[in-house]
Amino acid sequence: MMYQDGLPPLREVLNHYDLQAKKTLGQNFLTDLNLTGKIARSAGDLKNSIVYEVGPGPGALTRGLLMNGANRVVAVEMDHRCIEALGDVSNAYDGRLVVHEGDALKVDEMTLIGDTEGKDIHIVANLPYNVGTALLVKWMTAENWKPWFKSLTLMFQKEVGERIIAKPRTKAYGRLSVLCQYRASASLLFDIPRQAFIPPPKVTSCIVQIVPQDEKPDAPKQKILEKLVSAAFNQRRKMLRASLKTMGVDPLPKLAAAGIEQTARAEELSVDDFCRLAKEYE
Ligand code: SAM
Repeated sequence: MMYQDGLPPLREVLNHYDLQAKKTLGQNFLTDLNLTGKIARSAGDLKNSIVYEVGPGPGALTRGLLMNGANRVVAVEMDHRCIEALGDVSNAYDGRLVVHEGDALKVDEMTLIGDTEGKDIHIVANLPYNVGTALLVKWMTAENWKPWFKSLTLMFQKEVGERIIAKPRTKAYGRLSVLCQYRASASLLFDIPRQAFIPPPKVTSCIVQIVPQDEKPDAPKQKILEKLVSAAFNQRRKMLRASLKTMGVDPLPKLAAAGIEQTARAEELSVDDFCRLAKEYE
């Protein structure tokens, strides 16, 4: 029996193309098109937008995005076995899906997307857990801000989602929280249970949304903030006067100038504190 888009249900696609999930590629496939429709809708109105998707796999989320009106989906998939199945999706949706075979960590997204015809670009993806954080850091550390994407709607393991939205003085607060919050708003939208996947992962997943905001006029240089936050959280139990020595200059005058106690620890600093301190290192 065909689904409403004229394509077979996902379980049939997996069987037909013999797509056994590979752990090395972080593969856990969604099969419920109602659920992928919900994820697509949570990304907002996509009707006049281009969606960039990483790791479409057999196409569950891709079909959700296309069914919910995404004007064009540009996808990057590393697993050659999925390319033929994705060709079926592209045909069923009159070529609105364009698939590139490759490694999302290495591609230049704007080259793949090509002419945007003035449309907004949204990133929506069920990221492979083994490269999800690296991809997020790639996108959030863009030199030019605002970046080329209007929003990120991403699936992560719940623990990673909690790190992204974490507030100071919590265990989850760290480098990822600061990088995702200092010039963007980040929120956790909803959880996805393990049972929604084939095979079920060990932990619950969640959908996180990140929306880039205007950079404040006094924002620190991105590279310096990134270096500072890494140094501070690499030794998160140490006081900043010790952990920041790896920045290569005496941290005491910098901390004093930023009005931060030298005995403070990384997790006690707000995102604004980190920005002020990074300005002192500029
Ligand atoms: N989107 C599908 C879904 O929701 O069912 C599959 C999600 S699965 C968690 C992650 C997908 O990312 C897999 O299809 C995997 O082959 C692909 N992948 C893994 N590493 C990748 C990389 N570096 N670049 C592009 N795709 C990758």
